[in-house]
Amino acid sequence: MKNLDQRNQIIEYSLKLNSTNLSPLRSGNISLRGKEDNKEGYLITPSGKKYETLKPEDIVFMGLNEEKKNDSANKPSSEWRFHRDIYLNKKEAHAIVHAHSPHATAVSSHGKTIPPFHYMIALAGGDDIKCAEYATFGTEELSNNVIKALENRSACLMSNHGQVAFGKNLEDAFELAQEIENICHQYTIALKLGQPKILSFEEMKKVLDKAKNYKKG
Ligand SMILES: [Zn+2]
Repeated sequence: MKNLDQRNQIIEYSLKLNSTNLSPLRSGNISLRGKEDNKEGYLITPSGKKYETLKPEDIVFMGLNEEKKNDSANKPSSEWRFHRDIYLNKKEAHAIVHAHSPHATAVSSHGKTIPPFHYMIALAGGDDIKCAEYATFGTEELSNNVIKALENRSACLMSNHGQVAFGKNLEDAFELAQEIENICHQYTIALKLGQPKILSFEEMKKVLDKAKNYKKG
């Protein structure tokens, strides 16, 4: 089978969505940039299948210029559109994790950008974490909103929906999604105590510079 290793990797991380509680049951989806028959595209989890039943042949390959496949028995995740658009817009994206993780989803329902109440906000690539405006799942509008919220970022919340994170490989993307969930958990607790103190723009610039050098090193 074509791209068997990648297909197995997607299954491994899909199971982790459940076992780590990052995205319970069938929610969330995972993709990996790839090629098939010299066609640039990505492999993505199918629509509506429970993760524990996934087999390598269930993972769907989609070309970067392709719309939803109607001919195949396996339909790609209904969210294939923002996966595709992230690959088209972000050269550095090689893997994407989309999750309805509890705290990120709770914070997303407020539709607000998360300010730097903690310096680890920098993990998403800037001094805040944006929240994509709400649009119906699977729509082009939602995809456009996600791309906007991901400007200069590698993760964002999606209003009344969840979160999405990308990375240079699946391990990185998954870890980032876990970090976003953790940050949202901390933020939820912080808000219970009142308005948290927010780090200054200058301080976050220092953190971001340091993180850049750390990554290089
Ligand atoms: Zn979703």
